[in-house]
Amino acid sequence: MLGCVIHGQGDLRVDELAVPAPGPGQALVAVRYGGVCGSDLHYWRHGGVGDFRLKEPMVLGHEVVGTVVSYGSHADEASGPAPGTAVAVHPATPCGVCPECADGRRNVCRDTRYLGSAARFPHVQGGFAAHVTVPAEQLRALPAGLELRRAALAEPLSVALHAVRRAGEVAGKHVLVTGAGPIGCLVVAAAKAAGAARVTVTDLLPAALEYARIAGADTLVRADDPDDAGWPAEVDVAIEASGVAAGLDTCLRLVRRGGVVVQLGMLPPGQSPFAGNLVVSREIELRGAFRFDTEFDDALELLAAEASFDGLVSAVVPVREAESAFALAADRSTSCKVLLDFGG
Ligand SMILES: [Zn+2]
Ligand SMILES: [Zn+2]
Repeated sequence: MLGCVIHGQGDLRVDELAVPAPGPGQALVAVRYGGVCGSDLHYWRHGGVGDFRLKEPMVLGHEVVGTVVSYGSHADEASGPAPGTAVAVHPATPCGVCPECADGRRNVCRDTRYLGSAARFPHVQGGFAAHVTVPAEQLRALPAGLELRRAALAEPLSVALHAVRRAGEVAGKHVLVTGAGPIGCLVVAAAKAAGAARVTVTDLLPAALEYARIAGADTLVRADDPDDAGWPAEVDVAIEASGVAAGLDTCLRLVRRGGVVVQLGMLPPGQSPFAGNLVVSREIELRGAFRFDTEFDDALELLAAEASFDGLVSAVVPVREAESAFALAADRSTSCKVLLDFGG
């Protein structure tokens, strides 16, 4: 089978891999689509993402949907959907026993396994391959009316739903989102779904802002234009989804006194400068948001209910052309979410 393997910085290959056999408790899934994530692009272009560095070849991909093929021993329909069922794969396997897991914060589990992540060594191999094995309990049958293509947005939408949840109550509030990449756009949709009265989005690129409009943004602002009429005087909540320090700075300057800023975008490795004194003098609550947990099920329900998400899938590319798919995904002047098609 073909798989999309990162061998090092700038060295992305489509390799012939052996079809894995499901082990005890595991399911074998024939992968149909895999969404190219900003983190996959970082592994490709920089050899790492955030503070996680690539130390060995790794199958990329954690945004995976497909069809159940079979189960290993100790796993069957009792623990997962029947063979032939269309499923989305929850990419996280928290340890279940660490203090964070015990505390109900499984998304920050200190010993989690996450598909296609170099956070631990040996790395956890990902799902950009024609078949993948995962623990049976990580499969979610798609709700009625949701097909695989749109369902491929379940993982990034879960990230967005978690970030909005971290912001606290957003119903009736004005929410600022800095960065209109795929994650920023999905944060817009999540904030609107949670009842935000107004969502303002900033980005440098007009094309990205147009995707944010599809996602439901009320006001679009060119981040490089201080005279843009869309700049709000202040907002109740700000969610940073660009992953650059300038975005965090914008959030801190525009959130109201006592407001909440959620840092969702992964900043460059090491230290980032930001206006820390604003956190003090305005009593801003600065919170991180990392991955998600039960939001995955909410994401599938939201996707099933809202056809406009289709407009955020900007291209579907066969796995053999993985490198051009990555280049396309990295070109934010045209792309939102790019899917790889594994044919399964
Ligand atoms: Zn992702
Ligand atoms: Zn844990």
